[in-house]
Amino acid sequence: MGKTIGIDLGTTNSCAAVVENGQPVIIPNEKGNRTTPSVVAFTRIGEQLTGEAALRQAAVNSDRTISSIKRHMGTNWSINIDGKKYSPQEISSIILRKLKKDAENYLGEPVTDAVITVPAYFNDIQRQATKDAGRIAGLNVKRIINEPTSAALAYGLNNGAAQKILVYDLGGGTFDVSVIEIGGDVIEVLATNGDNHLGGDDFDERIVLHLQGVLRKQNGIDLKRDVAAMQRLREAAEQCKKELSSMERARIYLPYLSMNKGEPVNFEYTLTRTEFNELTKDLVARTEGPVRNALNDAGIAASELGRVILVGGSTRIPAVQEKVRALTGKNPERSINPDECVAQGAAMQGDILTEGTLQLYNGGSGILLLDVTPLSLSIETIGGVATRLVERNSTLPVHYSQVFTTAAAFQRSVDINVLQGERPMARDNRSIGRFRLNGIKAAPAGVPQIEVTFDIDVNGILRVSAKDLDTGRAQSITIDDNERMSDAEIEQAIRDAREYAEQDGMRRQAAELNTQAGQLLNQVQSLMQEQKRSLGKEDRNFLKNDIAALQKAVSRNNPAKTTPSNVEEVQRALDNLKQSSSRILGI
Ligand code: AMP
Repeated sequence: MGKTIGIDLGTTNSCAAVVENGQPVIIPNEKGNRTTPSVVAFTRIGEQLTGEAALRQAAVNSDRTISSIKRHMGTNWSINIDGKKYSPQEISSIILRKLKKDAENYLGEPVTDAVITVPAYFNDIQRQATKDAGRIAGLNVKRIINEPTSAALAYGLNNGAAQKILVYDLGGGTFDVSVIEIGGDVIEVLATNGDNHLGGDDFDERIVLHLQGVLRKQNGIDLKRDVAAMQRLREAAEQCKKELSSMERARIYLPYLSMNKGEPVNFEYTLTRTEFNELTKDLVARTEGPVRNALNDAGIAASELGRVILVGGSTRIPAVQEKVRALTGKNPERSINPDECVAQGAAMQGDILTEGTLQLYNGGSGILLLDVTPLSLSIETIGGVATRLVERNSTLPVHYSQVFTTAAAFQRSVDINVLQGERPMARDNRSIGRFRLNGIKAAPAGVPQIEVTFDIDVNGILRVSAKDLDTGRAQSITIDDNERMSDAEIEQAIRDAREYAEQDGMRRQAAELNTQAGQLLNQVQSLMQEQKRSLGKEDRNFLKNDIAALQKAVSRNNPAKTTPSNVEEVQRALDNLKQSSSRILGI
């Protein structure tokens, strides 16, 4: 059996890991980096770029570059690129496919099985969308697990004592806090909280704003509209922020950043950690509320916490660590890289499910993960009331039934409106699915007995069923929300992705061949000019013919619309000119 990889599919960056010889190991991407930007781009010639390559060109191709797709998971957001509509699942699948490929290159064997992590607060639709993204990418998603659970697993194995821990996860664009209980072989998420719009990007932005102010004052220039300069400023700000995590001051030097009255602007500035802390004080303070709320929801005081774990690249910021210390009274754990910890835990879970080497090294006891429902689940009952069937933070899997009856005499059907949220009235919660149970036997109001059952599996995916206990007639749904992709749509997306991969390869080849052809044509033409006097007429004509054939082939080979015969024609003409120029001109 192949290995099961663990994937942390993050908002800003993603990371993959695998267990080797009983230890989780981070899988480097093709650039040798341990995390991959969760960015996808479509170039004008129809190529798909992912990761660093997509991030690098984002500023100059912003309307065809997609970042933070995770924020749209489970919604009906879409983007239209060259006449094709892409859903969040499809964009995420492009990132997953890259991680899969990098893992295959690293392991030297095909990879199909994966465990993917999601935030603990992801609802059913978002979890299903993540699973669908995996399926489109050609992955068999063995389990969806919560990110804090995964981080706790990465740490939990190191030190097995029963305790409650707080996972403080500050990434590039989101902040999540979870309270978890580890006891024996069980890890349970007790409560979750967070801020969906707080992360390292906000810290970068504060530095950018500060530097813009300095530039205005020092050089009298406003960079706002200079896309390329702003991009350089943003990259420098992030770099500066990272340096300030280990140094007291960081120097920014950006030669030729812009032009001012015809003169180049060479920007130089030194930012101290004290200044940085001042610029970002309120951002750090915004993490307080969610930490207190999570502790409240878990019903514990900070003093009852056994450990505090830091997850997410932004927890490397010293002021953030200081805040965590102040809030919890604990020295946070940092022994595992904060941006790799979630992927490591997912790889460990994958290994346990596959009965891999971890099992062997740990005496055969796989760790069972218990997750919880992030929000309460209800159905709408008479008067628009949300009647709760499953309380938030219930441990998964959940199986719960309750018997309802009809409100009107001789009512032949009931509508089941499934709701997610904490509010008492149905309209204030989110409707995540609706279905109708028909064929109820005609009877006075209050007589029929309708049993409604909620089943939530270990992945957090919900199925609701209703059964007329008198007739036995039943109806069930896997939440049929229009924001969720149907099986047919998923199949279509898989086909598109496969087709795209082939087409993408051909387009890339076409573009590369055209570039090679252009280089050779330039070289041959300039050598012919140089050797004008010594070239015989016959040779010159020979070369001219080959040049014309190659130029014609290239003009017909538009990478965005290329066909196998276009590619072949350029290849043939290129080979011919290579041969003749080598023979005649000695290239
Ligand atoms: P993640 O989403 O966990 O990969 O975290 C990404 C965020 O962590 C980005 O905003 C990075 O700029 C930030 N980050 C990474 N390394 C550091 C560091 N050494 N100091 C401060 N922030 C960092």
